[in-house]
Amino acid sequence: MRSILVFDTTLHDGEKAPGTILTVPEKFRIAKALERLRVDVLEAGFPAASEEQFQIVERVAREVREVRVAALARATHPKDFEVAWEALRAAEQPRLHTFVPISPYYRSHFLNKDIDALVELAGAAVSLAAGHTSDVEFSLVDALRADPDEVARVAEAAIQAGARTINIADTVGYATPREITALFEHLQNRVASFDKALFSIHCHNDLGLAVANSLAAVGAGAGQVHCTVNGIGERAGNAALEEIVVALAARGTHYQAETGVQLKHICPASRLVRRLTGNTLQPNKPVVGSNAFLFDPLVPQLADAVGPPPYRFIEPKELGCDEDGDALAAAASLDQFSERAAELGYPLDQTGLEAGYQRFLELAEERELVADSDLELLLNDHVDPNLGRYRLRYLNVSAGSIAVPNATVQLEVDGVNLQDAGFGRGPVDAAFKTIFKMVNRSPKLVRYEVSAVTAGTEAQGEVCVRLEDQGCMVQGRAVDTDVVLASAKALVDGLNKLEYMQGRRPVSEFTDEDGWLPEL
Ligand code: MN
Repeated sequence: MRSILVFDTTLHDGEKAPGTILTVPEKFRIAKALERLRVDVLEAGFPAASEEQFQIVERVAREVREVRVAALARATHPKDFEVAWEALRAAEQPRLHTFVPISPYYRSHFLNKDIDALVELAGAAVSLAAGHTSDVEFSLVDALRADPDEVARVAEAAIQAGARTINIADTVGYATPREITALFEHLQNRVASFDKALFSIHCHNDLGLAVANSLAAVGAGAGQVHCTVNGIGERAGNAALEEIVVALAARGTHYQAETGVQLKHICPASRLVRRLTGNTLQPNKPVVGSNAFLFDPLVPQLADAVGPPPYRFIEPKELGCDEDGDALAAAASLDQFSERAAELGYPLDQTGLEAGYQRFLELAEERELVADSDLELLLNDHVDPNLGRYRLRYLNVSAGSIAVPNATVQLEVDGVNLQDAGFGRGPVDAAFKTIFKMVNRSPKLVRYEVSAVTAGTEAQGEVCVRLEDQGCMVQGRAVDTDVVLASAKALVDGLNKLEYMQGRRPVSEFTDEDGWLPEL
Protein backbone atom coordinates (compact mmCIF):
# COMPACT_ATOMS: atom_id res chain seq x y z
CA MET A 1 0.00 0.00 0.00
CA ARG A 2 1.27 3.48 -0.88
CA SER A 3 0.61 6.28 1.58
CA ILE A 4 -1.10 9.25 -0.05
CA LEU A 5 -0.64 12.64 1.59
CA VAL A 6 -3.79 14.67 2.09
CA PHE A 7 -3.10 18.38 1.51
CA ASP A 8 -6.07 20.33 2.82
CA THR A 9 -6.71 23.82 1.48
CA THR A 10 -10.14 24.48 3.01
CA LEU A 11 -8.79 27.59 4.72
CA HIS A 12 -7.30 28.99 1.55
CA ASP A 13 -8.77 27.73 -1.74
CA GLY A 14 -11.95 26.60 0.04
CA GLU A 15 -12.55 30.01 1.54
CA LYS A 16 -12.80 31.45 -1.97
CA ALA A 17 -16.25 29.85 -2.28
CA PRO A 18 -18.47 32.83 -3.12
CA GLY A 19 -19.93 34.53 -0.05
CA THR A 20 -17.79 32.60 2.41
CA ILE A 21 -16.69 34.65 5.37
CA LEU A 22 -14.49 33.26 8.11
CA THR A 23 -12.99 35.24 10.97
CA VAL A 24 -9.51 34.37 12.26
CA PRO A 25 -10.98 32.55 15.32
CA GLU A 26 -13.33 30.56 13.06
CA LYS A 27 -10.46 29.61 10.75
CA PHE A 28 -8.45 28.53 13.74
CA ARG A 29 -11.28 26.27 14.93
CA ILE A 30 -11.42 24.64 11.48
CA ALA A 31 -7.64 24.18 11.65
CA LYS A 32 -8.02 22.34 14.98
CA ALA A 33 -10.69 20.09 13.40
CA LEU A 34 -8.34 19.38 10.48
CA GLU A 35 -5.60 18.48 12.93
CA ARG A 36 -7.94 15.97 14.61
CA LEU A 37 -8.76 14.61 11.18
CA ARG A 38 -5.00 14.09 10.69
CA VAL A 39 -4.64 15.67 7.30
CA ASP A 40 -0.96 15.62 6.35
CA VAL A 41 -0.58 19.23 5.20
CA LEU A 42 -2.75 22.15 6.22
CA GLU A 43 -2.58 25.19 3.96
CA ALA A 44 -3.40 28.06 6.29
CA GLY A 45 -3.17 31.03 3.92
CA PHE A 46 -1.22 33.60 1.96
CA PRO A 47 0.56 35.82 4.51
CA ALA A 48 1.56 38.57 2.05
CA ALA A 49 -2.05 39.03 0.90
CA SER A 50 -3.41 40.64 4.06
CA GLU A 51 -2.85 41.26 7.74
CA GLU A 52 -5.60 38.78 8.51
CA GLN A 53 -4.05 36.00 6.44
CA PHE A 54 -0.73 36.66 8.13
CA GLN A 55 -2.41 36.31 11.53
CA ILE A 56 -4.11 33.01 10.79
CA VAL A 57 -0.96 31.44 9.34
CA GLU A 58 1.04 32.60 12.33
CA ARG A 59 -1.50 31.24 14.82
CA VAL A 60 -1.87 27.90 13.06
CA ALA A 61 1.93 27.61 12.81
CA ARG A 62 2.27 28.16 16.55
CA GLU A 63 -0.67 26.10 17.81
CA VAL A 64 -1.33 23.28 15.34
CA ARG A 65 1.62 21.00 15.90
CA GLU A 66 0.55 17.61 14.57
CA VAL A 67 0.44 18.45 10.86
CA ARG A 68 2.62 20.23 8.33
CA VAL A 69 1.55 23.84 7.91
CA ALA A 70 1.83 25.44 4.47
CA ALA A 71 1.80 29.08 3.39
CA LEU A 72 1.75 30.60 -0.09
CA ALA A 73 4.17 33.00 -1.78
CA ARG A 74 4.14 34.37 -5.35
CA ALA A 75 7.13 33.22 -7.41
CA THR A 76 7.36 36.73 -8.87
CA HIS A 77 7.63 38.53 -5.50
CA PRO A 78 10.75 37.84 -3.38
CA LYS A 79 9.20 39.84 -0.51
CA ASP A 80 6.35 37.27 -0.31
CA PHE A 81 8.80 34.62 0.86
CA GLU A 82 10.07 36.77 3.71
CA VAL A 83 6.53 37.59 4.85
CA ALA A 84 5.39 33.97 4.50
CA TRP A 85 8.40 32.70 6.41
CA GLU A 86 7.90 35.26 9.16
CA ALA A 87 4.35 33.91 9.66
CA LEU A 88 5.39 30.28 9.32
CA ARG A 89 8.70 30.05 11.15
CA ALA A 90 7.26 28.87 14.48
CA ALA A 91 5.69 25.79 12.87
CA GLU A 92 6.83 22.33 13.85
CA GLN A 93 6.85 21.33 10.15
CA PRO A 94 6.70 24.45 7.93
CA ARG A 95 6.14 24.21 4.18
CA LEU A 96 6.53 27.06 1.69
CA HIS A 97 4.31 26.80 -1.35
CA THR A 98 5.00 28.81 -4.48
CA PHE A 99 3.44 28.74 -7.94
CA VAL A 100 3.64 29.93 -11.55
CA PRO A 101 1.06 29.91 -14.35
CA ILE A 102 2.08 27.51 -17.12
CA SER A 103 -0.69 27.28 -19.76
CA PRO A 104 -0.39 29.63 -22.76
CA TYR A 105 -3.73 31.24 -21.79
CA TYR A 106 -2.58 32.11 -18.28
CA ARG A 107 0.99 32.93 -19.22
CA SER A 108 0.17 35.39 -21.96
CA HIS A 109 -2.67 36.93 -19.98
CA PHE A 110 -1.05 37.30 -16.60
CA LEU A 111 2.70 36.93 -16.87
CA ASN A 112 3.89 37.59 -20.44
CA LYS A 113 7.00 35.41 -20.15
CA ASP A 114 8.33 32.84 -22.61
CA ILE A 115 9.17 29.33 -21.49
CA ASP A 116 12.89 30.04 -20.91
CA ALA A 117 12.04 32.97 -18.65
CA LEU A 118 9.52 30.79 -16.81
CA VAL A 119 12.07 28.04 -16.20
CA GLU A 120 14.40 30.65 -14.73
CA LEU A 121 11.63 32.15 -12.59
CA ALA A 122 10.65 28.72 -11.21
CA GLY A 123 14.23 27.90 -10.26
CA ALA A 124 14.83 31.28 -8.64
CA ALA A 125 11.59 31.16 -6.61
CA VAL A 126 12.22 27.65 -5.34
CA SER A 127 15.82 28.54 -4.39
CA LEU A 128 14.51 31.49 -2.42
CA ALA A 129 12.02 29.28 -0.57
CA ALA A 130 14.60 26.56 -0.01
CA GLY A 131 16.77 29.13 1.77
CA HIS A 132 14.13 29.12 4.55
CA THR A 133 12.97 25.50 4.69
CA SER A 134 13.75 22.20 3.04
CA ASP A 135 10.02 21.54 2.61
CA VAL A 136 9.14 23.44 -0.58
CA GLU A 137 6.10 22.77 -2.77
CA PHE A 138 5.97 24.13 -6.29
CA SER A 139 2.69 24.37 -8.22
CA LEU A 140 2.07 24.67 -11.96
CA VAL A 141 -1.12 26.64 -12.49
CA ASP A 142 -3.50 25.51 -15.26
CA ALA A 143 -1.10 22.68 -16.15
CA LEU A 144 -3.71 20.53 -17.90
CA ARG A 145 -4.10 23.08 -20.69
CA ALA A 146 -0.34 23.50 -21.08
CA ASP A 147 2.20 21.85 -23.37
CA PRO A 148 3.22 18.65 -21.47
CA ASP A 149 6.86 19.12 -22.49
CA GLU A 150 6.86 22.62 -21.01
CA VAL A 151 5.27 21.29 -17.81
CA ALA A 152 8.08 18.72 -17.64
CA ARG A 153 10.79 21.36 -18.22
CA VAL A 154 9.52 23.70 -15.50
CA ALA A 155 8.98 20.81 -13.06
CA GLU A 156 12.55 19.61 -13.65
CA ALA A 157 13.92 23.11 -12.98
CA ALA A 158 11.91 23.34 -9.73
CA ILE A 159 13.17 19.95 -8.52
CA GLN A 160 16.76 20.91 -9.39
CA ALA A 161 16.34 24.06 -7.32
CA GLY A 162 15.14 22.04 -4.31
CA ALA A 163 11.35 21.58 -4.56
CA ARG A 164 10.31 18.39 -2.77
CA THR A 165 6.74 18.42 -4.04
CA ILE A 166 5.55 19.25 -7.56
CA ASN A 167 1.87 20.00 -7.71
CA ILE A 168 -0.06 19.83 -10.98
CA ALA A 169 -3.12 22.09 -10.89
CA ASP A 170 -6.21 21.65 -13.06
CA THR A 171 -7.08 25.21 -12.12
CA VAL A 172 -10.15 25.58 -14.33
CA GLY A 173 -11.59 22.09 -13.78
CA TYR A 174 -11.27 21.17 -17.44
CA ALA A 175 -9.32 17.88 -17.47
CA THR A 176 -10.61 14.32 -17.77
CA PRO A 177 -9.25 11.32 -15.83
CA ARG A 178 -7.58 9.93 -18.96
CA GLU A 179 -5.75 13.21 -19.60
CA ILE A 180 -4.57 13.31 -15.99
CA THR A 181 -3.20 9.78 -16.31
CA ALA A 182 -1.49 10.65 -19.61
CA LEU A 183 0.17 13.77 -18.15
CA PHE A 184 1.48 11.88 -15.11
CA GLU A 185 2.87 9.14 -17.35
CA HIS A 186 4.46 11.78 -19.55
CA LEU A 187 6.11 13.43 -16.55
CA GLN A 188 7.38 10.10 -15.29
CA ASN A 189 9.14 9.60 -18.65
CA ARG A 190 10.31 13.15 -19.27
CA VAL A 191 11.29 14.56 -15.89
CA ALA A 192 14.79 13.22 -15.22
CA SER A 193 14.52 13.98 -11.49
CA PHE A 194 10.98 12.54 -11.20
CA ASP A 195 11.98 10.22 -8.33
CA LYS A 196 13.49 13.06 -6.31
CA ALA A 197 10.12 14.74 -5.72
CA LEU A 198 6.61 13.80 -4.71
CA PHE A 199 4.05 14.59 -7.41
CA SER A 200 0.74 16.06 -6.34
CA ILE A 201 -2.62 16.95 -7.91
CA HIS A 202 -4.99 19.92 -7.41
CA CYS A 203 -8.41 19.58 -9.06
CA HIS A 204 -11.48 21.73 -9.52
CA ASN A 205 -14.98 20.41 -10.01
CA ASP A 206 -16.30 22.43 -12.95
CA LEU A 207 -17.13 19.25 -14.88
CA GLY A 208 -17.93 17.23 -11.74
CA LEU A 209 -14.65 15.35 -12.20
CA ALA A 210 -12.48 16.73 -9.38
CA VAL A 211 -12.54 13.56 -7.29
CA ALA A 212 -12.33 11.24 -10.32
CA ASN A 213 -9.36 13.24 -11.63
CA SER A 214 -7.62 13.20 -8.23
CA LEU A 215 -8.05 9.44 -8.01
CA ALA A 216 -6.78 9.04 -11.58
CA ALA A 217 -3.64 10.93 -10.52
CA VAL A 218 -3.24 8.62 -7.51
CA GLY A 219 -3.58 5.66 -9.86
CA ALA A 220 -0.87 7.19 -12.09
CA GLY A 221 1.62 7.72 -9.28
CA ALA A 222 0.65 10.96 -7.49
CA GLY A 223 1.63 10.84 -3.83
CA GLN A 224 -0.40 13.82 -2.65
CA VAL A 225 -3.89 15.22 -3.31
CA HIS A 226 -5.10 18.76 -2.70
CA CYS A 227 -8.66 18.93 -1.39
CA THR A 228 -11.15 20.83 0.75
CA VAL A 229 -13.74 19.71 3.30
CA ASN A 230 -17.15 19.36 1.60
CA GLY A 231 -15.42 20.26 -1.70
CA ILE A 232 -15.95 23.98 -1.11
CA GLY A 233 -14.06 26.43 -3.32
CA GLU A 234 -14.36 28.85 -6.20
CA ARG A 235 -17.12 28.24 -8.77
CA ALA A 236 -18.07 24.51 -8.62
CA GLY A 237 -15.51 23.93 -5.87
CA ASN A 238 -12.42 21.79 -5.28
CA ALA A 239 -11.97 18.04 -4.92
CA ALA A 240 -13.83 16.92 -1.78
CA LEU A 241 -11.57 15.61 0.99
CA GLU A 242 -14.17 13.23 2.41
CA GLU A 243 -14.93 11.66 -0.98
CA ILE A 244 -11.27 11.02 -1.80
CA VAL A 245 -10.50 9.67 1.67
CA VAL A 246 -13.55 7.38 1.77
CA ALA A 247 -12.90 6.18 -1.80
CA LEU A 248 -9.36 5.23 -0.79
CA ALA A 249 -10.63 3.62 2.43
CA ALA A 250 -13.34 1.61 0.66
CA ARG A 251 -11.34 0.82 -2.49
CA GLY A 252 -7.83 0.72 -1.05
CA THR A 253 -7.12 -2.66 -2.61
CA HIS A 254 -8.11 -1.35 -6.01
CA TYR A 255 -5.92 1.75 -5.74
CA GLN A 256 -3.20 0.07 -3.67
CA ALA A 257 -3.16 3.28 -1.66
CA GLU A 258 -4.32 4.64 1.68
CA THR A 259 -4.40 7.91 3.65
CA GLY A 260 -3.76 8.62 7.31
CA VAL A 261 -7.01 10.55 7.75
CA GLN A 262 -9.08 9.49 10.77
CA LEU A 263 -12.42 8.44 9.32
CA LYS A 264 -14.34 8.96 12.56
CA HIS A 265 -13.71 12.71 12.44
CA ILE A 266 -15.02 13.16 8.89
CA CYS A 267 -18.66 13.97 9.69
CA PRO A 268 -17.83 16.31 12.59
CA ALA A 269 -15.35 18.23 10.42
CA SER A 270 -17.87 18.40 7.58
CA ARG A 271 -20.60 19.74 9.91
CA LEU A 272 -18.26 22.38 11.34
CA VAL A 273 -17.17 23.61 7.91
CA ARG A 274 -20.76 23.62 6.66
CA ARG A 275 -22.00 25.72 9.55
CA LEU A 276 -19.06 28.12 9.83
CA THR A 277 -18.81 28.82 6.11
CA GLY A 278 -22.57 28.85 5.48
CA ASN A 279 -22.02 26.62 2.41
CA THR A 280 -24.94 24.21 2.73
CA LEU A 281 -24.75 20.69 1.28
CA GLN A 282 -26.98 19.13 -1.33
CA PRO A 283 -28.85 16.19 0.31
CA ASN A 284 -27.39 13.72 -2.20
CA LYS A 285 -23.79 14.88 -1.61
CA PRO A 286 -21.66 11.71 -1.38
CA VAL A 287 -20.42 10.69 2.10
CA VAL A 288 -21.70 13.70 4.08
CA GLY A 289 -25.05 14.67 2.47
CA SER A 290 -28.15 14.10 4.61
CA ASN A 291 -29.35 11.36 2.23
CA ALA A 292 -25.95 9.73 1.71
CA PHE A 293 -26.78 6.72 3.88
CA LEU A 294 -30.57 6.66 3.74
CA PHE A 295 -32.46 3.79 2.23
CA ASP A 296 -36.18 3.18 1.84
CA PRO A 297 -37.27 1.14 4.87
CA LEU A 298 -40.50 0.23 3.09
CA VAL A 299 -38.78 -2.12 0.67
CA PRO A 300 -40.35 -5.41 1.93
CA GLN A 301 -37.14 -7.42 2.02
CA LEU A 302 -35.46 -4.71 4.11
CA ALA A 303 -38.33 -4.21 6.52
CA ASP A 304 -38.05 -7.86 7.60
CA ALA A 305 -34.28 -8.13 7.44
CA VAL A 306 -32.31 -8.50 10.63
CA GLY A 307 -28.89 -7.39 9.41
CA PRO A 308 -27.84 -4.12 7.78
CA PRO A 309 -29.00 -3.48 4.20
CA PRO A 310 -26.76 -4.95 1.51
CA TYR A 311 -26.04 -1.60 -0.19
CA ARG A 312 -23.64 -0.29 2.33
CA PHE A 313 -19.93 -0.82 2.02
CA ILE A 314 -19.16 1.65 4.79
CA GLU A 315 -21.22 2.48 7.86
CA PRO A 316 -22.02 6.12 8.70
CA LYS A 317 -20.91 5.39 12.28
CA GLU A 318 -17.36 4.75 11.04
CA LEU A 319 -17.36 8.31 9.68
CA GLY A 320 -18.49 9.79 13.00
CA CYS A 321 -21.99 10.60 11.74
CA ASP A 322 -24.24 11.39 14.66
CA GLU A 323 -28.02 10.84 14.63
CA ASP A 324 -28.53 14.08 16.53
CA GLY A 325 -26.74 16.05 13.81
CA ASP A 326 -25.72 19.55 14.85
CA ALA A 327 -26.70 18.99 18.47
CA LEU A 328 -25.58 17.14 21.58
CA ALA A 329 -28.00 15.08 23.69
CA ALA A 330 -28.83 16.77 27.00
CA ALA A 331 -27.88 13.53 28.75
CA ALA A 332 -24.30 13.71 27.44
CA SER A 333 -21.50 12.75 29.83
CA LEU A 334 -18.48 14.91 30.61
CA ASP A 335 -16.47 12.82 28.14
CA GLN A 336 -19.04 13.27 25.39
CA PHE A 337 -19.16 17.01 26.09
CA SER A 338 -15.38 17.19 25.94
CA GLU A 339 -15.36 15.28 22.66
CA ARG A 340 -17.95 17.59 21.12
CA ALA A 341 -16.10 20.70 22.31
CA ALA A 342 -12.96 19.40 20.59
CA GLU A 343 -14.92 18.61 17.41
CA LEU A 344 -16.15 22.20 17.42
CA GLY A 345 -12.54 23.36 17.52
CA TYR A 346 -12.39 24.18 21.24
CA PRO A 347 -9.94 21.80 22.88
CA LEU A 348 -10.42 22.62 26.58
CA ASP A 349 -8.10 22.21 29.54
CA GLN A 350 -9.44 20.60 32.73
CA THR A 351 -10.67 23.88 34.30
CA GLY A 352 -12.33 25.04 31.09
CA LEU A 353 -13.89 21.66 30.64
CA GLU A 354 -15.49 21.53 34.08
CA ALA A 355 -16.77 25.11 33.86
CA GLY A 356 -18.12 24.50 30.35
CA TYR A 357 -19.82 21.26 31.38
CA GLN A 358 -21.58 22.98 34.28
CA ARG A 359 -23.00 25.59 31.91
CA PHE A 360 -23.97 22.86 29.45
CA LEU A 361 -25.92 21.07 32.21
CA GLU A 362 -27.79 24.30 33.02
CA LEU A 363 -28.78 24.66 29.35
CA ALA A 364 -29.61 20.96 29.12
CA GLU A 365 -32.18 21.19 31.92
CA GLU A 366 -34.58 22.96 29.58
CA ARG A 367 -34.28 20.71 26.53
CA GLU A 368 -33.51 17.29 25.12
CA LEU A 369 -30.82 18.47 22.74
CA VAL A 370 -28.35 21.32 22.94
CA ALA A 371 -27.51 22.72 19.50
CA ASP A 372 -23.88 23.18 18.45
CA SER A 373 -24.54 26.90 18.02
CA ASP A 374 -25.51 27.13 21.69
CA LEU A 375 -22.46 25.12 22.68
CA GLU A 376 -20.36 27.56 20.67
CA LEU A 377 -21.86 30.45 22.55
CA LEU A 378 -20.97 29.02 25.91
CA LEU A 379 -17.55 27.81 24.76
CA ASN A 380 -16.82 31.12 23.08
CA ASP A 381 -17.70 32.91 26.30
CA HIS A 382 -15.22 30.78 28.06
CA VAL A 383 -12.46 31.06 25.48
CA ASP A 384 -12.84 34.72 24.53
CA PRO A 385 -15.26 36.76 26.63
CA ASN A 386 -14.28 39.94 24.78
CA LEU A 387 -15.31 38.83 21.31
CA GLY A 388 -18.55 40.81 21.16
CA ARG A 389 -19.67 44.33 22.08
CA TYR A 390 -23.37 43.43 21.99
CA ARG A 391 -25.40 40.94 23.94
CA LEU A 392 -29.13 40.34 23.65
CA ARG A 393 -30.66 40.44 27.15
CA TYR A 394 -34.38 40.43 26.49
CA LEU A 395 -36.79 40.31 23.58
CA ASN A 396 -40.55 40.52 23.54
CA VAL A 397 -42.55 40.72 20.34
CA SER A 398 -46.26 41.06 19.63
CA ALA A 399 -47.39 39.78 16.29
CA GLY A 400 -50.17 37.87 14.61
CA SER A 401 -53.56 39.32 13.62
CA ILE A 402 -52.79 42.71 15.14
CA ALA A 403 -52.42 45.96 13.27
CA VAL A 404 -48.74 46.69 13.84
CA PRO A 405 -46.26 44.08 15.08
CA ASN A 406 -43.88 45.54 17.68
CA ALA A 407 -40.77 44.53 19.57
CA THR A 408 -39.25 45.47 22.91
CA VAL A 409 -35.52 44.82 23.15
CA GLN A 410 -32.95 44.97 25.93
CA LEU A 411 -29.43 45.00 24.61
CA GLU A 412 -26.14 45.15 26.45
CA VAL A 413 -23.74 47.45 24.60
CA ASP A 414 -20.18 47.56 25.95
CA GLY A 415 -21.48 46.36 29.31
CA VAL A 416 -24.32 48.92 29.54
CA ASN A 417 -27.96 47.79 29.41
CA LEU A 418 -30.12 49.65 26.88
CA GLN A 419 -33.83 49.28 26.24
CA ASP A 420 -35.94 50.35 23.28
CA ALA A 421 -39.02 49.42 21.30
CA GLY A 422 -40.11 49.65 17.67
CA PHE A 423 -42.50 48.52 14.98
CA GLY A 424 -42.16 46.50 11.82
CA ARG A 425 -43.98 44.58 9.12
CA GLY A 426 -43.70 41.35 11.10
CA PRO A 427 -42.08 40.19 14.35
CA VAL A 428 -38.62 39.65 12.81
CA ASP A 429 -38.71 43.00 11.01
CA ALA A 430 -39.81 44.76 14.22
CA ALA A 431 -37.00 43.14 16.22
CA PHE A 432 -34.33 43.86 13.57
CA LYS A 433 -35.36 47.50 13.11
CA THR A 434 -35.29 48.06 16.87
CA ILE A 435 -31.85 46.49 17.20
CA PHE A 436 -30.47 48.50 14.26
CA LYS A 437 -31.76 51.66 15.93
CA MET A 438 -30.12 50.75 19.25
CA VAL A 439 -26.68 50.00 17.78
CA ASN A 440 -27.03 53.00 15.50
CA ARG A 441 -26.08 51.24 12.30
CA SER A 442 -28.00 49.80 9.40
CA PRO A 443 -26.09 47.14 7.50
CA LYS A 444 -27.74 45.56 4.48
CA LEU A 445 -29.42 42.23 5.23
CA VAL A 446 -28.22 40.19 2.25
CA ARG A 447 -29.59 36.83 3.31
CA TYR A 448 -31.97 35.49 5.94
CA GLU A 449 -32.44 31.75 6.28
CA VAL A 450 -34.26 29.56 8.79
CA SER A 451 -33.74 25.81 9.00
CA ALA A 452 -34.67 23.11 11.49
CA VAL A 453 -31.73 21.68 13.44
CA THR A 454 -33.69 18.94 15.17
CA ALA A 455 -36.87 17.06 14.36
CA GLY A 456 -40.27 17.06 16.06
CA THR A 457 -42.65 19.78 17.18
CA GLU A 458 -40.07 21.20 19.58
CA ALA A 459 -37.60 21.55 16.72
CA GLN A 460 -34.83 24.07 17.20
CA GLY A 461 -34.71 26.59 14.41
CA GLU A 462 -31.33 27.75 13.21
CA VAL A 463 -31.23 31.21 11.73
CA CYS A 464 -28.44 32.41 9.48
CA VAL A 465 -28.18 36.08 8.54
CA ARG A 466 -25.67 37.64 6.20
CA LEU A 467 -24.92 41.32 6.72
CA GLU A 468 -23.05 43.71 4.50
CA ASP A 469 -21.71 47.09 5.55
CA GLN A 470 -19.08 49.29 3.92
CA GLY A 471 -17.74 46.48 1.76
CA CYS A 472 -17.48 44.05 4.65
CA MET A 473 -19.67 40.94 4.70
CA VAL A 474 -20.30 38.70 7.71
CA GLN A 475 -22.56 35.90 8.74
CA GLY A 476 -24.43 35.59 12.05
CA ARG A 477 -25.99 32.40 13.36
CA ALA A 478 -28.14 31.33 16.29
CA VAL A 479 -30.46 28.57 17.34
CA ASP A 480 -33.64 28.60 19.42
CA THR A 481 -36.99 26.85 19.56
CA ASP A 482 -38.43 30.35 19.04
CA VAL A 483 -37.40 31.42 15.54
CA VAL A 484 -37.98 35.12 16.24
CA LEU A 485 -35.62 34.95 19.22
CA ALA A 486 -33.15 32.92 17.12
CA SER A 487 -33.35 35.63 14.43
CA ALA A 488 -32.56 38.41 16.90
CA LYS A 489 -29.67 36.42 18.39
CA ALA A 490 -28.31 35.72 14.89
CA LEU A 491 -28.49 39.41 14.07
CA VAL A 492 -26.59 40.33 17.25
CA ASP A 493 -24.00 37.65 16.43
CA GLY A 494 -23.65 39.18 12.94
CA LEU A 495 -23.30 42.70 14.35
CA ASN A 496 -20.56 41.53 16.71
CA LYS A 497 -18.70 39.96 13.79
CA LEU A 498 -19.11 43.10 11.72
CA GLU A 499 -17.43 45.11 14.49
CA TYR A 500 -14.74 42.48 14.70
CA MET A 501 -14.08 42.38 10.96
CA GLN A 502 -14.11 46.13 10.52
CA GLY A 503 -11.67 46.47 13.39
CA ARG A 504 -9.29 44.19 11.49
CA ARG A 505 -9.62 45.21 7.88
CA PRO A 506 -6.96 43.72 5.67
CA VAL A 507 -4.11 46.20 5.28
CA SER A 508 -3.66 45.32 1.62
CA GLU A 509 -5.10 42.93 -0.91
CA PHE A 510 -3.19 42.44 -4.13
CA THR A 511 -3.92 44.68 -7.06
CA ASP A 512 -2.86 44.47 -10.70
CA GLU A 513 -0.20 47.14 -10.24
CA ASP A 514 1.23 45.14 -7.38
CA GLY A 515 1.68 42.19 -9.74
CA TRP A 516 -1.24 39.97 -8.90
CA LEU A 517 -0.58 36.38 -10.01
CA PRO A 518 -3.39 33.89 -10.64
CA GLU A 519 -3.44 31.13 -8.06
CA LEU A 520 -3.90 27.43 -8.57
MN1 MN B 1 -7.59 26.07 -6.85
